Amino acid sequence: PASHATRIALVTGAASGIGKAIATRLAAEGACVVIADLDLEKAVAAAAELGSTDVAIGVQANVTSAVEIQAAVDAALLAFGGLDLIVNNAGLSLSKSLLDTTDADWDLQHNVMAKGSFMVSRAAARVLIDQGLGGDIVYISSKNSVFAGPNNIAYSATKADQAHQVRLLAAELGEFGVRVNGINPDGVVRGSGIFAGGWGAKRAAVYGVPEEDLGAYYAQRTLLKREVLPENVANAVAVLTGDDLSHTTGLHIPVDAGVAAA
Ligand code: NAD
Repeated sequence: PASHATRIALVTGAASGIGKAIATRLAAEGACVVIADLDLEKAVAAAAELGSTDVAIGVQANVTSAVEIQAAVDAALLAFGGLDLIVNNAGLSLSKSLLDTTDADWDLQHNVMAKGSFMVSRAAARVLIDQGLGGDIVYISSKNSVFAGPNNIAYSATKADQAHQVRLLAAELGEFGVRVNGINPDGVVRGSGIFAGGWGAKRAAVYGVPEEDLGAYYAQRTLLKREVLPENVANAVAVLTGDDLSHTTGLHIPVDAGVAAA
């Protein structure tokens, strides 16, 4: 439930793709948004698209750094006077098979998505508990947290880790009125830097389709025959963190046009 007069959101990895769509949707709902990303220039540009610095700010924060995470949380407090809603979205995918995955690959995937979201949640929870106004933490996990696919062991393992963080934090933070929920998207090709940056080519090779047809390929294997877009994930975040689901915590919503149910 809304706590401050205007909700104050922090979205990690929000300079691109799904995170940017989430920041855009939350701003459209009237929230003030901190766009935190590795890439400062893109974070500031994404914030400027949402309006003035009274509405959205872009900050540089590598989620593998507790210091940079704290700076992003402090930026929310300084710019907007509080924090209500945190989205753990920052991520990357190396898309490698078991035998190709190096120790460094494993560590990078886990440092960004498993440890990174743990550190973001910890820094945010301190503020939420201190404020005493409740709040929301959302994890952008993945269908891969539940269902295995080839050539992505380190990525999928971090997504399963995130899914369990949702359950653990829902249990631990419930008494403070903090809801913790997750979203399991699948196959968000359009707008995704992960897909454009190599994952798309690798997945297309695995499925034996041209990369430009990957969105259509994902769509045809869903129950609804629909391509999943970043906006669809953003809509789920808005619903999950809205007043209508005030009694829901520890839940994962699939946003995959039904592929996990097929
Ligand atoms: P994207 O590349 O468009 O966005 C990811 C953002 O995270 C980028 O802006 C990047 O700079 C940022 N980032 C990467 N490492 C970071 C770090 N260490 N600290 C801070 N920011 C960092 O990709 P996307 O497809 O929008 O993915 C967003 C999230 O959604 C990821 O967690 C991804 O695993 C998850 N997801 C995506 C899909 C999909 O099909 N695209 C499916 C399921 C889950």
